[in-house]
Amino acid sequence: MSKQAKLTPMMEQYLGIKAQYPDAFLFYRLGDFYEMFYEDATNASQILEITLTSRNRNAENPIPMAGIPYHSAQGYIDTLIEKGYKVAICEQVEDPKETKGMVKREVVRLITPGTVMESKGLDAKVNNYLTALYYDASVDRYGFAYVDLSTGELKTSTLENEESVLNECSSLQTKEVVLTSEISETLTQRLAQRLNVLFSSQLESSVTTEVTYLSEHIHDATQRKVLERLLAYLSNTQKRSLGHIQQAQSYEPAHFLKLDHYSKFNLELSQSIRSGKKQGTLLWLLDETKTAMGGRLLKQWLDRPLIQASQIEARQNMVASLLNAYFERLDLQEALKNVYDLERLAGRVAYGSVNGRDLLQLKVSLQQIPAIRELLEGINQGEWVELLDKLDPVQDVVTLIEQAIDEDAPLAITEGNIIKPGFDEQLDVYRDAMTNGKRWIAELEAREREETGIKKLKIGFNRVFGYYIEVTKSQLELVPENRYDRKQTLANAERFITPELKEKERLILEAEEKSQSLEYQLFLQVREAIKASIERLQTLAKAVSAIDVLQSFASVSEKYQYVRPTMIEDGKELSLIEGRHPVVEKVLGHQTYVPNTVEMSSETMILLITGPNMSGKSTYMRQLALTVIMAQMGCFVPAESAIMPIFDQIFTRIGASDDLISGQSTFMVEMMEANEALRRATPQSLILFDEIGRGTATYDGMALAEAIVEYIHQEVGAKTLFSTHYHELTDLDQTLPGLENIHVGAVEKDGDVVFLHKMMAGPADKSYGIHVAKLAGLPDQLLARASVILDQLEGSETSAPFIAEEEPAIAESSVEVGQLSLFDDVSSEETAVLESVKQANLLTMTPIEAMTLINEWQRQLKG
Ligand code: ADP
Repeated sequence: MSKQAKLTPMMEQYLGIKAQYPDAFLFYRLGDFYEMFYEDATNASQILEITLTSRNRNAENPIPMAGIPYHSAQGYIDTLIEKGYKVAICEQVEDPKETKGMVKREVVRLITPGTVMESKGLDAKVNNYLTALYYDASVDRYGFAYVDLSTGELKTSTLENEESVLNECSSLQTKEVVLTSEISETLTQRLAQRLNVLFSSQLESSVTTEVTYLSEHIHDATQRKVLERLLAYLSNTQKRSLGHIQQAQSYEPAHFLKLDHYSKFNLELSQSIRSGKKQGTLLWLLDETKTAMGGRLLKQWLDRPLIQASQIEARQNMVASLLNAYFERLDLQEALKNVYDLERLAGRVAYGSVNGRDLLQLKVSLQQIPAIRELLEGINQGEWVELLDKLDPVQDVVTLIEQAIDEDAPLAITEGNIIKPGFDEQLDVYRDAMTNGKRWIAELEAREREETGIKKLKIGFNRVFGYYIEVTKSQLELVPENRYDRKQTLANAERFITPELKEKERLILEAEEKSQSLEYQLFLQVREAIKASIERLQTLAKAVSAIDVLQSFASVSEKYQYVRPTMIEDGKELSLIEGRHPVVEKVLGHQTYVPNTVEMSSETMILLITGPNMSGKSTYMRQLALTVIMAQMGCFVPAESAIMPIFDQIFTRIGASDDLISGQSTFMVEMMEANEALRRATPQSLILFDEIGRGTATYDGMALAEAIVEYIHQEVGAKTLFSTHYHELTDLDQTLPGLENIHVGAVEKDGDVVFLHKMMAGPADKSYGIHVAKLAGLPDQLLARASVILDQLEGSETSAPFIAEEEPAIAESSVEVGQLSLFDDVSSEETAVLESVKQANLLTMTPIEAMTLINEWQRQLKG
């Protein structure tokens, strides 16, 4: 580049630094501004709507430039991060006053979507996760780790396959994934399709010794590797103390109730399908937390329900204890309302980004702890012991802040007024000097007025001229000769100084400067002292979050009249009496919602649900799934009474989860989800299949649906709710002992059918379809004809579907397996043909079809 020869030293410095951060916006500090140049400037001017100028306007190739004031940078940074960009903050690292030539500049921090610390860029009730992914070819496993820089949480796991990686990343809603080894293109694409995520990379583990202790205790080699690289990425980007990051905790997804991301999405656990928001989800219903950290923990519990009875019962005991103590619970809520985000405050103490007001919030929060302790001690019958142990009020920190930090501390930490009088002797001396000086000036003003007789004489101050005596033009002739030195002339006033005034001014300003810098030093000392208590603060924060979630469970359980479920590990019996779908109930109102029982004895494996569209089948299934999740989180459940097995996994195929983004057909997705369930479910799992097979031709779909039911019954043994509009499947109860039919009840009212949303034993009445058609207003003549056809169809022993789109040869196989035992003495080919003869529906067949069918029979019998 020829223009490079003409570059100024500053631009050379800029380009040198920019070259190290090609994928970030470089905020280059110039005086009171952060400047961007070249492409950064043109891009930022569009994204941030700021003015684009140029550095050397008159040159041949002007350099595009855009700047933002240092003081208002945060808002711009937030915007860029929110849009998924990175921002490198480049500061002057030398005092310009003390250097000749170019001031040295360095990037002091790289801010990325996964490493936001400032509270504005963070949603209080949502964790901000940065994850790292390492593929370990030697074991064909993924090392997985994630960190929330704002709270210090650090976890790691080993994941089996891409599917688990996707599941973990989407339930964490990770903002940024650090790839720490070669990761396949398909996996990154799938991640990008599912999540709004930024990829970064860190292939080496150049971890500084300062943070190695965070991963040293992890023995799994794959987890170690991913952790080391994640920590390396953090130290490279943050370039400062990470003292609040907690020692890595290894976890095993199999130790929690497993739900794949389709199910989480379909069940609307924390994101509504339509809006993507929290409103209308289970999380929304359960969230009566009073603190931000409680809100975050609730989401974590929702993402990982428990599978051990003892753990679930421990939570239930605490919820029950709070339910029995109404007034204590109200007081507890009041105390919690005054607890700020301890977790993130502690994080920022360590990170070095707290100000005086943050410390005051920390103090107020800690001051609530003794009251919370006392309340819980009052109701404790053993269930609270563990949490009580962790409720350390960190009194030394409270005392320190109380003594050091002024109640009216400003946001800035460099401009004084932050440290309380009496905290530091030297500071008090400077402050006295300032006050004395100022008093002296006030006295001077009074004296001069009196002595000169100039009533409007006043003493003012500005940054450029310092202190001055001001007299308006009209009174100027009263100023005695030689009394003052003339300093500045304004339109209607004259300003003067005296040597004495300037001497006092020097003393005051010196004291002010010294006191400000001393205050800053003292503030840093206070911060460092608090930093020593980070671990205690974090332990406390965890305990308070848990208490908050438990009180939220109690409040919700009371508000909506939930009951404590009996949870049975390895249980086979499910008895949910008069259960409700918690969210639909909340939306429709308790009066309108029709409760429904789900009852499955230890022998019952499958409930086959029939009933027309819109009668409440999928609501019934979701009701069960949500109830299981709530129960395993330790919350009470919407029912009259509940006995439940503890499930290990829930598989769902409910509603339309068209994976449109990845371009797969609904039916393909349906089959993939079914496949996941059939292959991975255990007898301790819960499967919910809604209208499986609907997505393809009638016979095809029915055949698959039936085969799936049989497979679950014979091979899988999981508790299953299976809804279908294939009425034919209801006969399966003859051959599958673990299958029971239930249907959605209806009543006839003034000749019309009204669905009750009420589940009842047995299969549905087949004529619902016609009733629905009547409700929809189809012509009477047509309805009458439909009834005649239905009668004819029911007259024939079999029940072929209304519209035969496929050749009947496929239909026969769909009933073959189920009926096999009735024909034990004939060969299976003969049975099939016999069945097919019985089934053949002459009403809907053309002569050609009939011939084809006979031909097929012959072929089969000849073997
Ligand atoms: P299906 O799966 O049978 O097509 P849905 O479960 O989607 O039907 O239910 C249809 C509508 O009926 C829902 O939107 C809901 O408002 C209402 N509904 C379902 N179950 C109940 C119930 N138990 N009580 C009251 N309303 C219900």
